[in-house]
Amino acid sequence: MAAGLPYGRAEAENGQRVSLNAFDRRFVRRHSAATSKLAFHLNAVHISKVQDVNVQTERTEDYKAPTEETARSRIKKALGPVAVVGVVIAKFFANLKFVLLPLLKFLPILLKSGGTMLLMIWVYTQIWGWQFALGFVLLLLVHETGHLIVAKKFGLKVGAPVFIPFMGAFIALKEAPRNAWMEACVGIGGPLLGSLGALVCNALGEFFAAPIFIALAWFGYFLNLFNLTPVGMLDGGRIVTALSRWLWLPGFALLIWFGWKYPNFIIWLIVLLSLPRIYSLFRKRTEEEQRYFEVTPSQRCVMSVLYFGLIAILLFGMHVAQQDLNKYGVRSHGHGHDVIVQ
Ligand SMILES: [Zn+2]
Repeated sequence: MAAGLPYGRAEAENGQRVSLNAFDRRFVRRHSAATSKLAFHLNAVHISKVQDVNVQTERTEDYKAPTEETARSRIKKALGPVAVVGVVIAKFFANLKFVLLPLLKFLPILLKSGGTMLLMIWVYTQIWGWQFALGFVLLLLVHETGHLIVAKKFGLKVGAPVFIPFMGAFIALKEAPRNAWMEACVGIGGPLLGSLGALVCNALGEFFAAPIFIALAWFGYFLNLFNLTPVGMLDGGRIVTALSRWLWLPGFALLIWFGWKYPNFIIWLIVLLSLPRIYSLFRKRTEEEQRYFEVTPSQRCVMSVLYFGLIAILLFGMHVAQQDLNKYGVRSHGHGHDVIVQ
């Protein structure tokens, strides 16, 4: 086919000009669309264009034998619905593109987050079996998602959750909160959603009379409660900074008691890391630091209700779950202190 000929015409080998029939036109068009960058999207538009061309073709094309024409129109009629379905499918894929492209962009994050998550599930599976390990890691994910949602609401740049066996999970804030209120909100987002996750677990356990869910719920309550300890880089430490720095002192004492009662490397690490922060909280603040810690009375009130309310709910939840587990004859050995969530 020689290039530069007007659309719809081709030169035969003997130099005679011939008309392209409808099929050829469709073929040519489809090809031109396929080579375009926007092939996917164009296809949807394209098919309806081809149909327009067909209508024109029927009027202008040289007259063909009636039998052939009826056969063709019959095929066309039969193919009509196919074309419609084709358009719908093409449109669906065109829309899917808007879902798939961002997904591809976040693939490295998914791999990092998902990879460390799978590793953690695998490690805990060796200890507890896969069902408990899976449930436990999912509860951690729910907790981290709580932080993530609030941080995003404030427009803070955050990394995807990363899971470290025996340590817990964390999200990296790539941007520091601009004030104590923001920090407290991001801090309480995790325990709030995490506690809700544990509550759902508890409800499932009651509904299906499945002790594994209740055991998971107990762990969920415990972990979220532990993280509310008002000290250091624990969620509680971030939250009470907006309430009163004095709350750090009982928190610190509680942590030392905890570390003494359930000797654990990570707890002592938190104690150590909290020391400089405690010092900095009680020394004289610069004006800029002062501004950072400014919280309105209503904000202080909201955060206090959330914080102390959540602690009360979690204590109650642990108590109820424990009683349920006793009923099932499951005894808690307090593995919880092996794991710290942030
Ligand atoms: Zn947390």
